[in-house]
Amino acid sequence: MPDQIENTIRILTRITNGKTILLLKVNNFEISVLSFVGDSPEKYIQFNSSLFQLYKSSGVDSVSVENLPECKAVMNELNSTTCFLKKIHSVSEQNETVYLIIFADGVNNLLDTENDAIKSVLNVLSNQVKENYYPSAEKFHSISDRLIEAETLTNNWEDNFNRLLAISSDMIFILDKDGCFLRVNNFGAMMLDYDESEMIGKHFLDFVEPDKKIEVSIAFSKMLLSDRVIKIKTTLTTKLNKKVPVEVSGRTIAKNENIVGMLGICKDLTKLSKFEDELKKLKPKLIEAHRLISLERSRKWQHNSLIEELDRLKNEFVSNISHEFRTPLASIIGFSETIVSDPDLPEEMKAEFSVVILNEGKRLTKLINDILDLSKIQIGKLTLNRTTFNLADMLNELVESNRQLAEEKHLTIEFENSKEETFLDADREKIVQAFESIINNAIKFTNEDGRIKVILNNLSDEVEVIISDTGIGIPEKDLPYIFQKFYRVSRPGTEIPGTGIGLVFVKQIIDLHKGLISVQSELGNGTTFIIRLLKNIRIKK
Ligand code: ADP
Repeated sequence: MPDQIENTIRILTRITNGKTILLLKVNNFEISVLSFVGDSPEKYIQFNSSLFQLYKSSGVDSVSVENLPECKAVMNELNSTTCFLKKIHSVSEQNETVYLIIFADGVNNLLDTENDAIKSVLNVLSNQVKENYYPSAEKFHSISDRLIEAETLTNNWEDNFNRLLAISSDMIFILDKDGCFLRVNNFGAMMLDYDESEMIGKHFLDFVEPDKKIEVSIAFSKMLLSDRVIKIKTTLTTKLNKKVPVEVSGRTIAKNENIVGMLGICKDLTKLSKFEDELKKLKPKLIEAHRLISLERSRKWQHNSLIEELDRLKNEFVSNISHEFRTPLASIIGFSETIVSDPDLPEEMKAEFSVVILNEGKRLTKLINDILDLSKIQIGKLTLNRTTFNLADMLNELVESNRQLAEEKHLTIEFENSKEETFLDADREKIVQAFESIINNAIKFTNEDGRIKVILNNLSDEVEVIISDTGIGIPEKDLPYIFQKFYRVSRPGTEIPGTGIGLVFVKQIIDLHKGLISVQSELGNGTTFIIRLLKNIRIKK
């Protein structure tokens, strides 16, 4: 039994002087006690069953209940003067009723139906009974109420349709089977600067832009042939000759399988096409912005990958350079130790060992100088000490000084001079270092029986030095990078020692002389370096 109902009944006992109050539910099949206050409900079993019979046979009211012998018996027992009966709730579909029965003293109070306090408490009780015992019935009622409302609304569909026409911000229209306006809403007429009455009777095509009429009439013919909605974008002309871009959706209306007209909606696309135009104008800017963003992204990516690559090359350089130092040092220390520790060493051997020590020492000095020069270049300290010298002589000396090294590898090395004498105003020492480096590489990267050629060409404003070999060549993908610091071509299986700084130095020297250096190479067939240097006014003939 819900507490709230019991509380309400207790309130009723107080305001009605009730001794016992019963809340009974009765239908065609049973009678049950929903709530009670007072003596135990077992006392009322007889009373309840006679009430049940009465309910089924002739119906229940205050008088008939009071006349029941079982009621009188209860009243006697309770010493009460009144049996008050009130219908609290009924559900007609189930023939079910909830009654409140009060056995009390003093008739006046109870029969006073105008008593506001009793009236409102009974109201509260009625609602509580509905909520607690008949919630679905409540819903059922609200749904059925809604259905009734909906029915009322749909019965008034024409009024509602007219209201819809009035409030719509699109043109809604009905055409007859020939395509003439039967109805158009106020907004639709206004869209074309007409009154509704002016449009009635006119053909739809009369409002279509002349060069769009054909496609609209084709669309309308399609609509007449099919039972489907057609949708077409076109342009209408207003009374003031303005153009209105629209989207028309339409469908035929049929009666007894005969087409009697068409129903349609016209959406004004003016705003939309304005937005589309603006979007079109913005598109190139957007594309440009995208391009710039992706350019910036790829620059950043390149920058990052360049830093990573430099980092990798630096690490590689450190391990290469230590190897480059260690090899000559090992020979120098090894041969010197032998000379020092063996006083009986024959003089010829001592002389031979000394030459090795000298050459390895020179190699070390060159390496150290290269590294020092490189760091000078890096901090921009390398300066040129220009003198005028005969370039052909210089190249000839270089070829001769490398001949022994080349011949040890069974390589031929030759110099092809230009017909005229060529003088250059440059830093001789640096130019020697640069060409020496290229010739050293040519010897280093050319296998036995190969050829190395140094050619000097005297051009009008420049001199051209070509140093070519028939060596192992440089893969095409590596060519753009060989002048980069620490860059070395990876040659798995045939690793040739090096530091990756020789060509950096060469390029820096040529650049400092405002000259040009380029390289051509074919893997397996050889490499050619071409150096061009500006002649100078101080060139002597
Ligand atoms: P390294 O100390 O490695 O020789 P360089 O800066 O002198 O450094 O050369 C860079 C790279 O260019 C070398 O690792 C080599 O692979 C390639 N290279 C330079 N000259 C030649 C050549 N004449 N033939 C083949 N490869 C060459």
